[in-house]
Amino acid sequence: MPQIQIMHQTIRVRFAPSPTGALHIGGVRTALFNYLLAKKHNGTFILRIEDTDQNRFVPGAEDYIIEALAWCGLHFDEGPMQGGPYGPYRQSERKHMYAQFADQLIQKGHAYYAFDSAESLEHKREEWKLKFDHSATYNALTRLEMKNSLTMSAEEVSEALSSGQAYTIRLKMPASEDVRFTDIIRGEVSFNTSELDDKIILKGDGMPTYHLANVVDDYLMKITHVIRGEEWLSSTAHHVLLYRFLEWESVMPQFAHLPLILKPDGKGKLSKRDGVKLGMPVFPLSWEDPNPEDSFVGFKEAGFDPDALINFLAFLGWNPGTEQEIFSMEELIQAFDLSHVSKGGARFDFDKIKWFNQQYLKNQSGEEIASHVTLLIKDAGWNASEEYLAAVCYLLKDRITVYPDIVRDGVYFFTEDFPKDTDTFKKKWNPEHKNIIQGLADLLGNWNSDDSTELEHAVKDYIANSGLGLGQVLPILRIAIAGTLKGPDLFQTVMLIGLRKSQARIQKLIEDSSHLPA
Ligand code: GLU
Repeated sequence: MPQIQIMHQTIRVRFAPSPTGALHIGGVRTALFNYLLAKKHNGTFILRIEDTDQNRFVPGAEDYIIEALAWCGLHFDEGPMQGGPYGPYRQSERKHMYAQFADQLIQKGHAYYAFDSAESLEHKREEWKLKFDHSATYNALTRLEMKNSLTMSAEEVSEALSSGQAYTIRLKMPASEDVRFTDIIRGEVSFNTSELDDKIILKGDGMPTYHLANVVDDYLMKITHVIRGEEWLSSTAHHVLLYRFLEWESVMPQFAHLPLILKPDGKGKLSKRDGVKLGMPVFPLSWEDPNPEDSFVGFKEAGFDPDALINFLAFLGWNPGTEQEIFSMEELIQAFDLSHVSKGGARFDFDKIKWFNQQYLKNQSGEEIASHVTLLIKDAGWNASEEYLAAVCYLLKDRITVYPDIVRDGVYFFTEDFPKDTDTFKKKWNPEHKNIIQGLADLLGNWNSDDSTELEHAVKDYIANSGLGLGQVLPILRIAIAGTLKGPDLFQTVMLIGLRKSQARIQKLIEDSSHLPA
């Protein structure tokens, strides 16, 4: 495994999303790994918005990206919001910077003007498909059949340019050459240029495409490490050639391509729609799209804690080399190392993120959990003081997976109108024991200490003296108070709900029992 070289360099890494919609969880993982490397080495973490493809631009996407990463605790040192010495940090605002490099490439014979119309390209592609036994591209085999500055005379070219004919500038790839580079995660990687096409690097309106803009900006922004998803691996061959052709090889960043994130069953790449299909979020925040099919619920809105999400994402392709699983951001920064990132795809295991969330919620105070639930309680139409809500959250926190579970599981803490497990009640209820249960209600009503353990002893003594077993009485008591056999400690629950209220609930159950169908 090639070791990362960081000795005399200040690390500068960038997260470079295109604002084409909500940021998929894979993007958050990429941002996280960049962030961890930067912070570990006191480096700089940069946000660069790659918005040169105006057709794919989606309003609101940039704000979403910034907000989502801030929610995750990933804050940038340089970017469109905070500025910095290498701005602007939106490529559309850097448009004027790219043409000179495209010109340089043309001067040196590494790029050329292409004047092919969309129709002629379409037509040629069909022809190539029949002629060549591989996917047809604009490359060394075909470029001489096309209308470009390699096939036209210098006069024709300048006339075409001055008459305003539409053009693009294409990279002139060597006919057949192995382009090699070292990837920190994958080791030696090689692509033969015969498999790659003459990418468009600049369009007639002066807007660069991804490849040119990405390389020029990495160079101008002094990026030292490019950490991105595996899907960009073959583009790297184009990028390496651009560094060579522009004579920037000595400052070429090191590359690290992160493994794919796979569906929970390990079969194929996790897609945006898998979230909807599998009933789990795959986005950090919810996204409302004009097209309802493209609207998604995020981890935040589903009630996850951002630290748990980050902890989970860190393990998608990385491992610390130890058994430790729970890591704070600070611990991740210390432990993170690209040499522990795997090549193979990482399975997105929804049970695992739930497990992480449970661990994080267990460690939160009642107040902290309550702050995420207050609005949900209001929406449900319930009233609860801050103090009471915090106490409920504290009591329930070991049993919940996400914040809204407090509302789902804790109805009986907030209203008298809570669901009751009548089937179980019918199985346990014996009308002959009515007086004993009545006595229990009275015991609660007359009790005047707030120590739940004392109450537990008193109730158990009472049951023992009544001659019944605990199993005959406690389930009845629990259903009266909470409606269900599941739940936290019964006596703490009674204390929290209140002794008088609990007494009334038992009383009501006794009354209701007389209407029970046989
Ligand atoms: N704009 C590319 C993206 O959307 C950036 C890829 C890279 O990091 O070079 O992911």
